[in-house]
Amino acid sequence: MKKLEDEIKKCKRCELWKTRTKPAVGEGSLTAKLMLVGEAPGYYEDLKGIPFVGKAGKVLDELLGSVGLRRSDVYIANMLKCRPPGNRNPTAIEIRACTPYLDKQMEIIEPTVIATLGNFSLSYIFDKFGLKKDKISKLHGKVFKISMIAGITKIVPLYHPAVVTHNPGMKGVLTDDFKVLARCL
Ligand code: URA
Ligand code: SF4
Repeated sequence: MKKLEDEIKKCKRCELWKTRTKPAVGEGSLTAKLMLVGEAPGYYEDLKGIPFVGKAGKVLDELLGSVGLRRSDVYIANMLKCRPPGNRNPTAIEIRACTPYLDKQMEIIEPTVIATLGNFSLSYIFDKFGLKKDKISKLHGKVFKISMIAGITKIVPLYHPAVVTHNPGMKGVLTDDFKVLARCL
């Protein structure tokens, strides 16, 4: 993981290196059973080089806490390691350039549960493991089993924690989905 971090810090595989402050590679336990996959760094993540440390991160910390988990119990990463300017959506070119790093992180961590946070992450992980995609409103909080090198891994699609900042009513949905997630561990 250290080698990978060093490589990402120097990475120029897509244009986002030009506008990044620091890449947010990933954070947490290298032996975590649960890996959470978000979209891309935002303003604070870019400054600190750590995923989910802004508003969405505060929501994520609360959700983890609601099922007795701390950040240090899990591993958190994003599809893109560098911030898209103005938090715009990732492009297909950026996703293609950067996701080999996420793939490598999954190989290193060998999680038994992967939670996707939001649409982009859901789309990438479902395509990667040959799962049939549908709207997140249909798939959230459901458990999908795939086989990885280490054995069976469960995929649990979740809404992105940032939805709570625009729509506080979603907190209950995410809290219920985190209970499903915790039962998978
Ligand atoms: N949103 C994400 O998807 N990832 C972060 O690290 C922060 C906000
Ligand atoms: Fe490299 Fe990913 Fe950053 Fe693009 S987003 S420069 S591929 S680390």
